[in-house]
Amino acid sequence: MLPVLSAATEPVPQLTYETQPTSGPGVTRCLSHPRQLAFRGIPVMCSACRARRDWLLINHGRNVWVCCRCSNQWLEPEISRADFDALIAIPDGTTYPSVAQGLTALGFDGAFAGTYLE
Ligand SMILES: [Zn+2]
Repeated sequence: MLPVLSAATEPVPQLTYETQPTSGPGVTRCLSHPRQLAFRGIPVMCSACRARRDWLLINHGRNVWVCCRCSNQWLEPEISRADFDALIAIPDGTTYPSVAQGLTALGFDGAFAGTYLE
């Protein structure tokens, strides 16, 4: 697991080693994805709590991170920037102007670990 977020309140954009943003300086996009997510036929599953849905996706540069409601987060190499763009077009999700706002809005601070909110 990469040290993307040492705490839920610390935003991902502090990634100083990502120096090649493909659109704008350090553009970070944040997207909720309440449903299951599968790439190449493999469903995304949280290794910490085994959740299979209710994600917060974070795109920064060419990388996409998945955040679970249990506050686990990881870099997901199966999700490309193009995949992220496609997901943003799905009306199910909600985009947030910052990672911190997304985390707060969705309660992704670990408080709801192991639960699903409908
Ligand atoms: Zn989890």
